Amino acid sequence: VELQERLDRPGTLMLDRLRQAQDEDGRIDAEDLARAAGEFGWPVAAVTGAASYYADFAEGRRGRRHVRVCEGTSCFVSTQGQHIAHLERALGVRLGECAADGSVSLQGVRCLGYCYDSPAVLDGEQPGSGEQLGGLFGDPRAAERRTRPGWAEPLKLRAARIPYESVVDRPVVLAGLVGDEGPWEVWPGVVASGSPDQVLAEVTASGLRGRGGAGFPVGKKWSAAAQEAAPRYVVANGDEGDPGSFCDRLLMESDPHRILEGLALAAFAVGARHGLILVRSEYPTAAERLRAAVAAARENGHLGKRIHGSDFDFDVEIVRGAGSYVAGEETALLHAVAGLRADVRSRPPYPTSHGYLGQPTAVNNVETLSAVPWIVRHGGAAYARLGHPDESGTKLVCLSQRFRRPGVYEVEYGVPLRHLVEDLGGGLREPHTLRAVQVGGPLGGFLTPDQLDLPLLSRPLAQAGVALGHGSLVAVDSAMPAAAILLHAWAFGAAESCGACTPCRVGARRGVELAERVGEPGQAEAALAAHEPLLEVLTVASLCAFGRGVSCAVRSLLRVYSDELRRTGE
Ligand code: SF4
Repeated sequence: VELQERLDRPGTLMLDRLRQAQDEDGRIDAEDLARAAGEFGWPVAAVTGAASYYADFAEGRRGRRHVRVCEGTSCFVSTQGQHIAHLERALGVRLGECAADGSVSLQGVRCLGYCYDSPAVLDGEQPGSGEQLGGLFGDPRAAERRTRPGWAEPLKLRAARIPYESVVDRPVVLAGLVGDEGPWEVWPGVVASGSPDQVLAEVTASGLRGRGGAGFPVGKKWSAAAQEAAPRYVVANGDEGDPGSFCDRLLMESDPHRILEGLALAAFAVGARHGLILVRSEYPTAAERLRAAVAAARENGHLGKRIHGSDFDFDVEIVRGAGSYVAGEETALLHAVAGLRADVRSRPPYPTSHGYLGQPTAVNNVETLSAVPWIVRHGGAAYARLGHPDESGTKLVCLSQRFRRPGVYEVEYGVPLRHLVEDLGGGLREPHTLRAVQVGGPLGGFLTPDQLDLPLLSRPLAQAGVALGHGSLVAVDSAMPAAAILLHAWAFGAAESCGACTPCRVGARRGVELAERVGEPGQAEAALAAHEPLLEVLTVASLCAFGRGVSCAVRSLLRVYSDELRRTGE
């Protein structure tokens, strides 16, 4: 392959190329791998590495009809996992398998981002969920129902005014992150006559921290990248893998221009000419809408060369993932957008100096970027006044299906969790009663109902043994058996561990074995006692936050369900 031809096919297209090969006859074979390697000028081993890593490619043959079913926590809680067996029976195929005649295949996914309407499926790229699931599969009128107006439409984001005078004694105003201000209102003026230092100063003054879970100060990250030599890149993380979280999907689908404007402002501050957004493959509509938004932004002169008469060039590429939870970790994400295995690597060096293609890169979650236009327009100080002195601004919080009023709510940091659960969520829908709340997804942790006076703030939650993560709240009702939720937590760890380090790869599988033993007659005490040394190894020796997070979540679960777990198998 000639060098120019190779450069014309960047790795960002590799996952799409593999998807295309898979679409042709349902599988990726050695010939496909060799052909893709030849086209891209890559070693076959590198292409094979990617094809064997991502769940979408590695699960074997795909049927002409491919159904993905959610195994995430909200869906699991909504049926105690029974929806999987229901689908297997209805489709006549086992989870992870393809029918012998190639007509249909069924893939388990954590998660599909419809936690407000569990249990969820994607039939091809068409969402189906909740009540539809019961009669959808095997029913000849299914296609008609799938196209029914209003069926499975994305939930509207609901901005809510949160009175929490107990935390801050002043009127509450929302940041308007998902509200009244149109997108691209800030960008033309900034790029034409503003300065990168001004944008950086406002974002730094705002105290904005990453919303994806790590909570790193955004101004500090941008400043570090901006100080490195060009070329620099900005990358938006749309790989919302946390079961329980769906706010990024709704943002990408309902407000893609706001994300693009935030990314453009990030690029301006950092001095990047190229941006990438990784959208997980489970969110096909989000990818489609972002692509359409990029095209419209180019037409309107917001992206491209010499934008709005300035000397600033910037364009954005949308990359679709292929099924990997760990790809949401920023070093893994940078491998994924380059078409490689989503392997985590140790830091330092940080992506701000060694990121995409080894160049300085600022990676931010899409929710984080969505706050930037408001900050630049109203000033960092105005944003810093929202929320709590320890964590400024607002957060999108996701409430799961078991709540009476599930959905996404924009709230200020510091609001008590009880307000989210009881006032906004309305408590649990009848006839369920609340046993626990999972905060922050599978790497977050569980709280009991009497812990809900804790505020929505990272530090107090960490002191209570849970991580705020991406801000999801999954309600677990009293009917859920303790041993089943423990096994579910470990099974997530075992399924989604990237395998790069032994403590997490082996430890999560060992955890599954221990959780299974908890359910055996007379084994609970010993199996629970064996958890402690295992959790310690995951906590201290895991290479990335995934292993530590799984351990943190399981520890909290053992605390919350201590009595029930000890009585299991009696
Ligand atoms: Fe991979 Fe788990 Fe190790 Fe992270 S902790 S690098 S996910 S094996």
